[in-house]
Amino acid sequence: MINVLFSAQPQNWADYETPLRTAFADAGLDVNLSQDHPPETVDYIVFAPNGPVTDFRPFTTTKAVMSLWAGVETVVDNATLTQPLARMVDDGLTRGMVEWVTGHSLRHHLGMDTHIHGQDGAWRNSSYPPLASDRPVTIMGLGALGQACGQMLHLLGFPVTGWSRSPKSVQNIHCLHGDDGLAAALRDAQIVILLLPQTPETENLLNAETLGLLARGAFVINPGRGPLIDDAALLAALDSGQVQHATLDVFRTEPLPKDHAYWAHPHVTVTPHIASTTRPETAARVIAKNIVRGEQGQPFLHLVDRKLGY
Ligand code: NDP
Repeated sequence: MINVLFSAQPQNWADYETPLRTAFADAGLDVNLSQDHPPETVDYIVFAPNGPVTDFRPFTTTKAVMSLWAGVETVVDNATLTQPLARMVDDGLTRGMVEWVTGHSLRHHLGMDTHIHGQDGAWRNSSYPPLASDRPVTIMGLGALGQACGQMLHLLGFPVTGWSRSPKSVQNIHCLHGDDGLAAALRDAQIVILLLPQTPETENLLNAETLGLLARGAFVINPGRGPLIDDAALLAALDSGQVQHATLDVFRTEPLPKDHAYWAHPHVTVTPHIASTTRPETAARVIAKNIVRGEQGQPFLHLVDRKLGY
């Protein structure tokens, strides 16, 4: 019998209990799933960073901590966590992000706001939306989410450049990496999508200097993490017209404070960290698969590199 502790918000239990039980059974695992196993008996923790477990020291026999979240910046520095930490790579989460990124990219690309907000009885048909092939897109972060979004935008015809820490070769995406590739990745981009993790290296990556590399009137889309952007620099770039519009899903402080300049800015769209989320049915299968691997002595999938922070 494998003891799996579910440590997340109480309301998550209702969403996850049945999918997890089903996935464990389908994987042939004999699991005792509970929200309150004694720590010293726990084999695996299904973990949300906002759940009750914050001190991992009593979990002396725990083989791995399985995060329900893709972003692990709030747990990666936890000194009590000595067990392997797997982050969430979930097909449902990925599909949700692809849909959100594609929708917001097309909104800006097609200039949808002009007609949605400007319906005043005047027939103005002198200009047409450009083709995607004329609008270079850059995706910062070529992980599970960045690559999937890149493939969809490629299918729509956008020239897609991607930027990562280590060198990559990804079909349909012009890949650049590291400090040396940063300027080339951003230069003349018309849409920039941030899908990087929050780490000390990625903080303020989009700042006055890097925003200045973009094509004038570029669009910034951030479903990654708030600290990736120097907020003051973005507001200045929006006011000067260097950036035409920013669609932001994540912020340094969440919920975004009521008096934050982003709420009232005419060229900022705020969405409340809803770009995507882990989907219980698909995520439960990922967790079950990883526990099977653990039980068979195989390396866990999606392990976080604690030094790199993601
Ligand atoms: P991955 O870990 O799969 O990918 C991260 C990518 O960022 C990798 O390509 C990595 O490079 C790159 N990267 C990391 N550090 C650097 C650096 N210093 N310089 C250049 N590139 C770097 O993450 P995911 O794609 O799964 O998720 C990305 C982020 O999306 C999450 O960390 C989370 O913050 C956010 N997210 C937001 C959601 C929302 O609803 N708004 C939902 C889910 C996730 P390399 O490939 O070389 O390792």
